[in-house]
Amino acid sequence: MHHLNRRTLLAAAASLSIARSDTTRADPSIHYDVIVVGGGTAGIPCALFAAMNGARVLLIEKSPALGGTLFWSTGQIAGAGTVFQKRLGITDSPDAHFDDCMRINENTADPALTRLTVDHAGDTINWLADQGFEVMAGHPVTGIGHDHFTARRYQQGVKSGLSILDAFLPSLEAAIARQQVTLLTGTAVQGLIQERPGKVVGVTATGPSGTQDFKGSHIVLASGGCAANPRLFEDLHGVPLYAKTAYPTSQGDGLILGMSAGAAIVGGEKYASLPGLVPDAWQYPAQMYAWAPLHPMVRQPWEILVNAHGERFVREDHPSVHQIERGIYRQPGHRHWAIFDADMLAKSEPIIPDWSRDRLATEYQTHPMFSRAMSLEELAFRAGINPTSLRQNIADYNRRLQGAQPDRFGRTYRPAEIATPPFYAIAMQGWTLVSFAGLSVNTRFQVLDPQREAIANLYAIGEVIGAGATSGAAYTNGMLVTPAITFGRLLGSALANRS
Ligand SMILES: Cc1cc2nc3c(=O)[nH]c(=O)nc-3n(C[C@H](O)[C@H](O)[C@H](O)COP(=O)(O)OP(=O)(O)OC[C@H]3O[C@@H](n4cnc5c(N)ncnc54)[C@H](O)[C@@H]3O)c2cc1C
Repeated sequence: MHHLNRRTLLAAAASLSIARSDTTRADPSIHYDVIVVGGGTAGIPCALFAAMNGARVLLIEKSPALGGTLFWSTGQIAGAGTVFQKRLGITDSPDAHFDDCMRINENTADPALTRLTVDHAGDTINWLADQGFEVMAGHPVTGIGHDHFTARRYQQGVKSGLSILDAFLPSLEAAIARQQVTLLTGTAVQGLIQERPGKVVGVTATGPSGTQDFKGSHIVLASGGCAANPRLFEDLHGVPLYAKTAYPTSQGDGLILGMSAGAAIVGGEKYASLPGLVPDAWQYPAQMYAWAPLHPMVRQPWEILVNAHGERFVREDHPSVHQIERGIYRQPGHRHWAIFDADMLAKSEPIIPDWSRDRLATEYQTHPMFSRAMSLEELAFRAGINPTSLRQNIADYNRRLQGAQPDRFGRTYRPAEIATPPFYAIAMQGWTLVSFAGLSVNTRFQVLDPQREAIANLYAIGEVIGAGATSGAAYTNGMLVTPAITFGRLLGSALANRS
């Protein structure tokens, strides 16, 4: 996952014909078959498939442009039985996809929602391909930034998440032109209309035409997660929002709307930490200053990782980056420091991709997360970690390496001792781009109350159901964008047929 720069995003947004700030008028006296709250990754396909199957749809989007997190998302998706696999002669099955997902997240995702995703993911990707979606050269692959699959079923569009948005928009424009979809942009849903507690019959929305009520048979919350809302994020996960990296519209509106109708929130305990974010400062949420993937399949580690006590805590070359992430998660504040010496700096690829060795060596002069010193004690003091313990842990690492004894954590890639001054430390923070807590749903995407009773007419898809539902307590390849689009397709079609 990576960020596109802002200029690319603005240029891309300007080129999209629906990324404009005007608003079509919607008639409050019309009874819509389906009202979709949020025009992003999940909401657009839901509106589209409902319309294609004959429903009268109202799509309400808070920001001026459709697309949501697709503007930032890498948009990596996975599925079995795709045209992209056939092109390369790859055989695969939903069963193998299911087994891989549950292995990677250690059976922490909802098995029924995972099953539903993998059974229909191939069709989702083939539908995108029919709409002009094209993948990067050499894709599908087994993996990129997270633990790999056993088969090549993972791909990224040539323009990352924007390739998916580009694939959505022509069909949506056509549905709007046919008046099957009414689109309101710049309009925020701020309330659910309930005929009685637990029965939702419409929404209240505020936009350029003021505040209006819209009635509908089925109300779909597709308004994204809450990882841009530090207060709500911490309340629902019990973990501070350490860094601000989610798309800014991910404020958790749908979670609050769902709660207003009695929905249960589940999955906050599945919070999982990504490694290696160098924060701009020790204040939360921090901005990302730099990023070291700490992924042994991307770059074998020369450094060791320590916590604030100066102790090693994980096998730095563990073949599963998920296990490194779990190790970081168990450290105070999810903070970790990469420690290396002059010899490592000279011989290894820089730990921060795209940085030169010179920059790594001198960054301590200007940035508080980088330290350099001629002794380990002084380095620890500067970095603010325990000096005695750091010295002992490095002595243990070196002694075992000299004596050809097994590493304390089972590390096998040990190219050099940490012995040549100057010594370096980079302070890093565990972080996330998504929220794991979300509205409880069943496999028909009905929103459930704490007794697991469906709240009448209310549905949820996308990150509003929580990353924990389909990705589990891990970053499982594509298990957010893939289910968001897939559940949008399935729910849109199903609701049209029920109208
Ligand atoms: C940088 C980054 C990279 C990522 N890479 C990947 C990846 O490669 N693969 C993967 O699987 N996942 C990835 N993810 C996660 C994934 O992109 C998201 O989980 C997914 O796109 C969310 O889709 P969504 O439809 O739920 O929300 P969004 O796409 O964010 O759409 C929600 C929409 O609802 C609108 N909205 C919000 N509140 C209201 C309201 N009150 N009224 C009306 N509209 C409202 C928002 O403006 C927004 O347009 C990434 C996330 C980030 C931040």
